[in-house]
Amino acid sequence: MYTLTVVGTGYVGLVSGACYADFGSNVICVDSDASKIERLKALELPFFEPGLPEMVQRNVNEGRLHFTTDLPTAVKESNIVFITVGTPPRKDGSADTSAIYAVAKTVAQNLDGYTLVVQKSTAPVGTARDLYSWMKKFAKRGAEFDVASNPEFLREGSAIETFMRPDRVIIGAETKKSQDLLKKLHDPLFLTETPMVLTTLETAELIKYASNCFLATKISFINEISNVCEALGADVQVVAKGLGMDRRIGSKFLHAGPGYGGSCFPKDTYALASFARAAGERVGIVEAAIAANERQMDRMVDKVVAAVGSPKGKKIAVLGLAFKPNTDDMRAAPSLTIVPGLIKKGYKVVAFDPIAMPKAEPMSELKGVEMAADAYDAARGASAIVLITEWNEFRTLDLAKLKRLMKKPVLCDLRNIYNPEDAEAAGWTYVGVGKGRAGKAIKPKRPAMAAAAKPAAGRKAAKREGKRA
Ligand code: NAD
Repeated sequence: MYTLTVVGTGYVGLVSGACYADFGSNVICVDSDASKIERLKALELPFFEPGLPEMVQRNVNEGRLHFTTDLPTAVKESNIVFITVGTPPRKDGSADTSAIYAVAKTVAQNLDGYTLVVQKSTAPVGTARDLYSWMKKFAKRGAEFDVASNPEFLREGSAIETFMRPDRVIIGAETKKSQDLLKKLHDPLFLTETPMVLTTLETAELIKYASNCFLATKISFINEISNVCEALGADVQVVAKGLGMDRRIGSKFLHAGPGYGGSCFPKDTYALASFARAAGERVGIVEAAIAANERQMDRMVDKVVAAVGSPKGKKIAVLGLAFKPNTDDMRAAPSLTIVPGLIKKGYKVVAFDPIAMPKAEPMSELKGVEMAADAYDAARGASAIVLITEWNEFRTLDLAKLKRLMKKPVLCDLRNIYNPEDAEAAGWTYVGVGKGRAGKAIKPKRPAMAAAAKPAAGRKAAKREGKRA
């Protein structure tokens, strides 16, 4: 049995720590935030993640999962140290890796016997190799250690499932000892035939960025197609369905909406663009995805304004604040751009989110927003509903009841979860994303050849030709 230290008890650290403990390892979770550790010791989790409280409790009760702020002692007791601290974006878009280096320094100073340091935070290509040299400066002479990269791909909202049954495990490790240790640690996953890519440090790091940036680009692509749908009278949901049926493309991440958000895509797209530029290369396609995402969020505000009209004395009910369902993570959530945009236009905003309100309420971007008790409470006296996050409980709202409560029944469904015809039949004005109406397209330019021909003469001539033949 290994003893692992996991540094950082955020989404990645706490989920990884609990899952490795569930696989049978002894896990020490460390965080510099003492209040977080105190709450964790009392089994109070710092964020909402389905299934995690039960898993943490089970492993704490069985004595395999521990919480502390004492990193030096944890390092001395461990064979493997995972670094899972945050890498937030700096003002210039690059990733702030200062927490990784601070942790690595303490780890280096406290190495006791061979230790494998696994860099799991998402960090620019080159970080893991540089950490090794950095740690050498602080480690005792002769201290034995390796640095590996093992990027994480878990998805908030289904983090346990995606950690326990990942599409793949990426291991960047260059010594036999570190490779063997990481392979052994992931044995429970290999038994379920999870594919593994064993590669160099740099390649492992870039796989993580390439994956997130590709997915973000896919979302921006379908969002731009949705705008074309609106202009030319096509339905983006059907376009996406047809597109996704091509197995080379796939149907995932082709849902048009208000733009991507969350703790990863925005910061990772900026970071890739930034470190690629520093290396003298441009990833224009990712830069375009970033710009399209920003335009998409602004476009959502314009969409609401067009549907609701003058803001004078009007209230808007916003449903969903978290960046996606099943999480209370508010980092870079589209609501943090759309709601301030609506307030700036002069509307009063009342919001409801099933889980994220305690995190959302103190945020400066949402200052002045009144939080409601439920969707119906939010809708009372409102001139429109703006649905931003597709929580399951918003999928089957009682539209008749909502309509009675509202001043004007306008549904701005930014996740396309309602059928426009059904909503309109129930007396609503429906606004979706990319739901162009057939026959409303601007007429395409006809080929010059057709325009030049005189149709009447052409038809007569054709008749004559037909008689001759
Ligand atoms: P987070 O902000 O939720 O958690 C980071 C934790 O690290 C916090 O609890 C913080 O107190 C702690 N910390 C910061 N500095 C520390 C220090 N010096 N010593 C000890 N603890 C310290 O972050 P997260 O969402 O878990 O992300 C962590 C990393 O994993 C990031 O690089 C992120 O890009 C990457 N990642 C995140 C996800 C995700 O879904 N959230 C998925 C894959 C990868």
